[in-house]
Amino acid sequence: MKTYSIAAIPGDGIGTEVIAAGVEVMNALAQRYGTFGFAVDHFDWGGEYYKRHGAMMPADGREQIRNHDAILFGSAGHPEIPDHITLWGLRLAICQPFDQYANVRPTRILPGITSPLRKVEGPELDWVIVRENSEGEYAGVGGRVHKGLPLEVATDVSILTRAGVERIIRFAFELARSRPRKLLTVVTKSNAQRHGMVMWDDIATEVAAGFPDVTWDKMLVDAMTMRMVIKPETLDTIVATNLHADILSDLAAALAGSLGIAPTANLNPERVFPSMFEPIHGSAFDIMGKGVANPIGTFWSLVMMLEHLGEPEAAGRLMTAIERVTANPQFHTPDLGGKARTADVTAAVIAAIQAAN
Ligand code: ATP
Ligand code: MG
Repeated sequence: MKTYSIAAIPGDGIGTEVIAAGVEVMNALAQRYGTFGFAVDHFDWGGEYYKRHGAMMPADGREQIRNHDAILFGSAGHPEIPDHITLWGLRLAICQPFDQYANVRPTRILPGITSPLRKVEGPELDWVIVRENSEGEYAGVGGRVHKGLPLEVATDVSILTRAGVERIIRFAFELARSRPRKLLTVVTKSNAQRHGMVMWDDIATEVAAGFPDVTWDKMLVDAMTMRMVIKPETLDTIVATNLHADILSDLAAALAGSLGIAPTANLNPERVFPSMFEPIHGSAFDIMGKGVANPIGTFWSLVMMLEHLGEPEAAGRLMTAIERVTANPQFHTPDLGGKARTADVTAAVIAAIQAAN
């Protein structure tokens, strides 16, 4: 029997609640199928850790998780700590050095869930957003001088490298090719940003030559937001830079019914470093401790983790269990307009796993 070592970093707020639910589901899956197990190590890094130690994670934190098979992340964000500290101190401090350059975000309207685009039924919205996760607008390059003075200047420089752009575009074409519709939309703002974005488009054209079976087009990010709302059925795989895809993913999550459902995988496709799986939502302190956080985003992230670990059958079964549960409004949490609690949804998914043959 294979035992997968998982580094769990619940983080702050509802991160701890959804990761606890996720670990219950992992154990139920392992028990049900008996062909693999999980050894989960918990790391209490995040905002509370920062308040005690002055850093979001220990100096040798990355070394501690370097050899795990996968990382399961909750959310790091804290009302008493500026967001750029929580983000750069933990999530990006793992993603960037572990070269998790492909951030993959599936979006689908699950059974039983209503999109704010009321006319849209599930199959008409089935996307995967691929976010460049290692450079671009979040390269961290820039500066701020003359703080507080009238001549104050601040810059954030977007860095795009040929190697970085080429690998994410290639990854997106491969992913598009693996999906039934073989459709890719390449997003930029190459009309206004005339260096990096134009290079991005040029590289897309070059890479596309190797994928004659994939139908692809280019979109400007502003027009893209309209197309996502007005013609969602014309989209399938979408690739964009760090900032653009960050924004488009929140729109996608809302169109699919709730931020609480959306999963994400931060992949190091070469598998030199562990990949990281997490719900896309944040720490949501407004609902912390109330037991009403929607755990579906975490469960769907576990589906992606199982696929990455090489357990496609268990992944498929977990996805089926999730869809059985979302189909029943009795198991909708308040973000979906229901009354269910995190524990109800978790118990229902576990029951569906146990009932599966
Ligand atoms: P962070 O600072 O960590 O990004 P946040 O306070 O910005 O956290 P988000 O998690 O990004 O909050 O979510 C915004 C809102 O969406 C929350 O205030 C919350 O009400 C709702 N929400 C987010 N995730 C969930 C979830 N899993 N279940 C239910 N509601 C959620
Ligand atoms: Mg937020």
